[in-house]
Amino acid sequence: MSKFITPLYNSLKEYVPGEQPQDKKYIKLNTNESPFPPSPVVIECVNSEAVKNLKLYSDPESKVLKEELAKAYDVLKENVFVSNGSDEILNFAFMAYAREQGVAFSDITYGFYKVFAELYNVQTKIIPLKEDFTIDYKDYINLNKMIVIANPNAPTGISLKLNEIEEIIKSNPQNVVVIDEAYVDFGGTSALNLINKYDNLLIVRTYSKSRSMAGARLGYAFGNKEIIADLEKIKYSTNPYNVNRLTQIAGIASLMDNEYYENNCNDIMINRESTVKELKKLGFFVLPSDANFIFVKHPDIQGEDLYLKLKDKGILIRHFTQERIKDFNRITIGTLEEMHSLILAIKEILEEI
Ligand SMILES: *Cc1c(COP(=O)(O)O)cnc(C)c1O
Repeated sequence: MSKFITPLYNSLKEYVPGEQPQDKKYIKLNTNESPFPPSPVVIECVNSEAVKNLKLYSDPESKVLKEELAKAYDVLKENVFVSNGSDEILNFAFMAYAREQGVAFSDITYGFYKVFAELYNVQTKIIPLKEDFTIDYKDYINLNKMIVIANPNAPTGISLKLNEIEEIIKSNPQNVVVIDEAYVDFGGTSALNLINKYDNLLIVRTYSKSRSMAGARLGYAFGNKEIIADLEKIKYSTNPYNVNRLTQIAGIASLMDNEYYENNCNDIMINRESTVKELKKLGFFVLPSDANFIFVKHPDIQGEDLYLKLKDKGILIRHFTQERIKDFNRITIGTLEEMHSLILAIKEILEEI
């Protein structure tokens, strides 16, 4: 780094994304992408005509996309925000709500929360998950801080119950509670119905996982219209054209083919259950998952070791070095074929040790 950088950023530990190797073709089970392509409707819409129009700026209001999201999720357009990936919404929320109030989130959760907290030099309360990696909602009552909860949580896959989420929202009326529902389409329960009941709830979603569009960078959020107006204000103060033209078109088209995505999510849930069964047979400990990934460990092999051996065999999974979870690996659920290859490779590895 140069000597010119603001000292605060000097010590900032940036987010480290999962590997996206360009050298050879892996079975990629490391970054929770969908194994399925976007719907044919999406592929048809992002055509050469759409590319020609790239000479023009995108609609800064993302009007049609917001209208279609509002229709699809039965809310008003004023309750919808869209962004360049849901990470951008999280960024904006930290900027808007955490700097004065501070923030609270759990010790084992999406790694970006900590980065944003450091980026904005926010006072941070880290709340440990219970021994079994569940959240005790009582730890979040009357905190008087902004709260961020991934539900289902990552990388555990474990969900919090809706009535527990409601207790948290209700008991922190002076603070925004962010519920990050990146994985809700794989069997979780959404808090969406609560946005009209509470003015301090922000629900964050993404097209990256269940809608097969990680590379398009499209996130969306639901909340009371004042909260959405806050996020708009920050958007217009940083990047008014945050959602590009092709992504707006793809995002709208995606909503025209919900059945396709529901089927994909169903397939992934089925593959998840069969993979869990196989891994348990092989002696793995598997946390209960409502997401498109599972969090697993084996008594005979260290987390990092398994990760490296699978990588050697052309299969990528995600290992985290954080002390409390270093025995575990997070495995994204792919196609049935990919999961067969995974199980086969793991059997070989276990036989070799
Ligand atoms: C993947 C993920 C995100 C980020 O998604 P993008 O929309 O691709 O930025 C946010 N939160 C959680 C919990 C995630 O796993």
